[in-house]
Amino acid sequence: MDFRPTTECPHCGATLKARTTRLAGRTLFCGYEQCGCAGAEAEREKERQVEAEAARKAVQDKAMHDWKRAGVPERYMSLDHPLAAEIADGMKNGQWVYLWGDVGTRKTTCAAAVAKRLAGGKRSVLMAPMYRILDEIQRSFHDGGDPLKRYAEVRYLIVDDLGKRRPTGFVLDSLFSLIDQRYSAMLPTLVTTQYKPSDLVRRLAEQGDPDTAKAIVSRLRGGARVVHFDGPDGRLQ
Ligand SMILES: [Zn+2]
Repeated sequence: MDFRPTTECPHCGATLKARTTRLAGRTLFCGYEQCGCAGAEAEREKERQVEAEAARKAVQDKAMHDWKRAGVPERYMSLDHPLAAEIADGMKNGQWVYLWGDVGTRKTTCAAAVAKRLAGGKRSVLMAPMYRILDEIQRSFHDGGDPLKRYAEVRYLIVDDLGKRRPTGFVLDSLFSLIDQRYSAMLPTLVTTQYKPSDLVRRLAEQGDPDTAKAIVSRLRGGARVVHFDGPDGRLQ
């Protein structure tokens, strides 16, 4: 291998020797000595910072990718919520969660922040607005397929705004099937809704069977941590 035996430090002009190693009878060039002058040290420090920044960005990009795949809405990507950490920990221990409160009490912000903490890994968490799940069920009535499978099997499911739209009978039955499968498999589920449990039963039963509505809500809140949000930061009850 061809290389110059010395080079000059571009900062102070010092002569730096080439470093070599012997491998299989050949001399290999391994770069030049490092110079200890302030200019060379500052350049190495800058390189370390650039590498650290690139590593930090790679971690952040990976997280954003995981959050997007988990269904965290774009506008909630950068938001956090004071209750999210302990709710996520509870779900890791199998806890179901029922978040209810008026519009504007940051239920969805909290739910998204929980989803972000549970994301990463395969099939770990899915967050979806209820209307989307209902639409997928509705479509499958004509198109076939099993839209509920991925919601039924994901480790953590987060359903936003349950009860915002009134489900019809067929959809209500499918919703029951989804919740019941997760309940039987003990897969932690979080729902947000504007309705307290008794009102949610009435809401879901408006176009469907009251017993089915009751069974859904009974599974959602049975053993669940029920949190009433009544201000911008939520409040424990
Ligand atoms: Zn130097």
